Amino acid sequence: MPNPTPGLHHVTAISGPPARNVGFYTGDLGLKLVKRTVNFDDPGTWHLYYGDAAGSPGTILTFFPFAHAAPGRAGHGGALAFAYITAPGSLEGWATALGNGPDALSDRFGARVLSLRDPHGQRVELIEDSSAPAEGVGAFHSVTLWVADPAATVRVLTDHLGYAETGTERQGDAERIRLTATGGGPAAIVDVLRQPGAQARSGAGSIHHIAFRATDNAHQDELREALMAVGHRVTPRIDRQYFNAIYFREPGGVLFEIATDPPGFAVDEAPATLGTALKLPPQYEPHRARIEAALPPLETAAR
Ligand code: ZN
Repeated sequence: MPNPTPGLHHVTAISGPPARNVGFYTGDLGLKLVKRTVNFDDPGTWHLYYGDAAGSPGTILTFFPFAHAAPGRAGHGGALAFAYITAPGSLEGWATALGNGPDALSDRFGARVLSLRDPHGQRVELIEDSSAPAEGVGAFHSVTLWVADPAATVRVLTDHLGYAETGTERQGDAERIRLTATGGGPAAIVDVLRQPGAQARSGAGSIHHIAFRATDNAHQDELREALMAVGHRVTPRIDRQYFNAIYFREPGGVLFEIATDPPGFAVDEAPATLGTALKLPPQYEPHRARIEAALPPLETAAR
């Protein structure tokens, strides 16, 4: 078995127009915009990266904002929600600040959870955890995957990514299976939800994929070979400028990525000025003027 992943690297989701997305995640949640670049497969649209000040793996949330995206639908075969850690006792303050009532508060495995929607309908959760910073949000606490039959999804996580089953909780007709990465990083939890539902549909307010960490290229190769040995169809390595990526669809239908820690977000701008300028990969640099002119504004946030 390959070395276990330390945990989540990033979560990538789809939103509507970018200005409101920036307003919510930087203004309301207080994340830092650590990289403003374009969708490498569609350079007429933004790819925005939020995270902690350094853009550390396990804190990175990325969006493909599309001005005219139809709404997605939560359901089987999709990642339902991502959760950030916040300080114990902070959820009432968050609920007041973000306009959510006390009914948005619940309990999960003994920790308090505030459930929110971002401006385009994506489920965002804040979970109290003693390792969170005193102010603001910390790393990801977890992601929740919603699948029709969790067994095969759980098996990929335990047999190939080094997760361990650490609990099960029932809520009505739903069962939540908790898995925890054994690789020793933050953002260590994946919950797999078994609950009746329809098929997920991609669109604004939905998660596109979740990415797990590989410590380097050799670790990524090791994970890729182990997955391919049991029949998973994994892409070759793709250079994403800030990490190297491989992708495969797990048996429950969720798109998984494995992303390397290096080189990180300081590869093309200084750590102190992360996210302040449009950064383009080398293949698009010759077209910078045209790309800049076509991108919708980020800073006219109507909040
Ligand atoms: Zn990704």
